[in-house]
Amino acid sequence: MKLVVLKFGGTSVANVPQIKKIALKIKQEISQGNKVIVVVSAMAGVTNNLVDLVKSTSDTPAFSEYDVVLSTGEQVTSALLTIALDNLNIKARSWLGWQVPIISDKSYGKAIIEEIKTNHILEFLKTNQVAVISGFQGISKENRITTLGRGGSDTSAVAIAAAFSAERCDIYTDVDGVYTTDPRIVKSAKKLDQITYEEMLELASQGAKVLQTRSVALAMKYNVKLRVLSSFEDLPGTYIIKEERKMEKSEISGIAHSLNEAKITLSGVPDEPGQAAEIFGALAKYSINVDMIVQSSSINHEATDITFTIPESDLMTAESTIKKIQKKIGFRKFITETNVVKISVIGNSMRTQSGVAKTMFETLANNQINIHVISTSEIKISVLISSDYYELAMRSLHSAFGLDV
Ligand code: ASP
Ligand code: MG
Repeated sequence: MKLVVLKFGGTSVANVPQIKKIALKIKQEISQGNKVIVVVSAMAGVTNNLVDLVKSTSDTPAFSEYDVVLSTGEQVTSALLTIALDNLNIKARSWLGWQVPIISDKSYGKAIIEEIKTNHILEFLKTNQVAVISGFQGISKENRITTLGRGGSDTSAVAIAAAFSAERCDIYTDVDGVYTTDPRIVKSAKKLDQITYEEMLELASQGAKVLQTRSVALAMKYNVKLRVLSSFEDLPGTYIIKEERKMEKSEISGIAHSLNEAKITLSGVPDEPGQAAEIFGALAKYSINVDMIVQSSSINHEATDITFTIPESDLMTAESTIKKIQKKIGFRKFITETNVVKISVIGNSMRTQSGVAKTMFETLANNQINIHVISTSEIKISVLISSDYYELAMRSLHSAFGLDV
């Protein structure tokens, strides 16, 4: 008998009628002879409301108590779904993170799963019942409730699928799969039948918000067969797997965009060893995640310009951090820009095919779009451009790489 993990996100359990529909979907899965573990998110909006409750109680809440509050959303949905299953004469039981137990470290608000003990659930599944597990939560060795970071029930589901060696892990959500790009911006965006872990990882971290990035990394590590599909429509969805089983495909799988970027340029940085270490060391101290970096080469070894990008939300901290070391470094100007968007083209075939960069840059040039910064990985090319042109850039790249058809 196969074991499958089904995860339902916030919009899939947003209200009681929706929860009843989900119960029917689970019934279908059981009628195919599968054993089922369900993982649920909180009802849509509930976790945000819980965050607000904590914030209006204190500006400096203990992180441990913050997690106790935040984890309650998933407690409600796991029990409501169990009740709905019971109405359909399906035997089920709710399981909170600590009851499984899902053991995590104690970094509240962003806890890492260390181990999932499988014995209780395995015994339970032998009785032909459905285990409905609350996502997003764990318990530390100190016996405290933890949460896994926003969107963390994707990670719960994948970790559970890995721990129980499930046949597959279905992530039910409000979109019907992973698209070549954002369909709200590019009308001709297409749903992908399949995509590799690596590509999905790049897409997820480059701003496509279908899955929590961490969950994709975890699926890749344990080779969990993931599928993203709609809870509202009966459609096949997108498989996220190790290797694509397609004879031929276009060189690019997807185009991602990330809006909340800020660009910083330090101009006139003395061209001496240790300057970059000084600058990025200072930013690292404040956990500021630097993304793209370019340094101009200096003439006569005098001075260079260093340009890099960070999340826009970190701009104030970055500015004050760098201004503190201005004297020490001795750069001349500090320039920031926030009207920028990062566009990334992603594709596994880039490893073997040349010419992707050429097509990308030519397409942007033909549309008079100026590139501020470029960065690349083995399967990705990213450019930073003015936010005025990002929709045009996405549409023309989508077409240039043959994804429209
Ligand atoms: N309820 C949590 C959140 O909103 C976890 C999740 O939905 O994945 O972030
Ligand atoms: Mg989610």
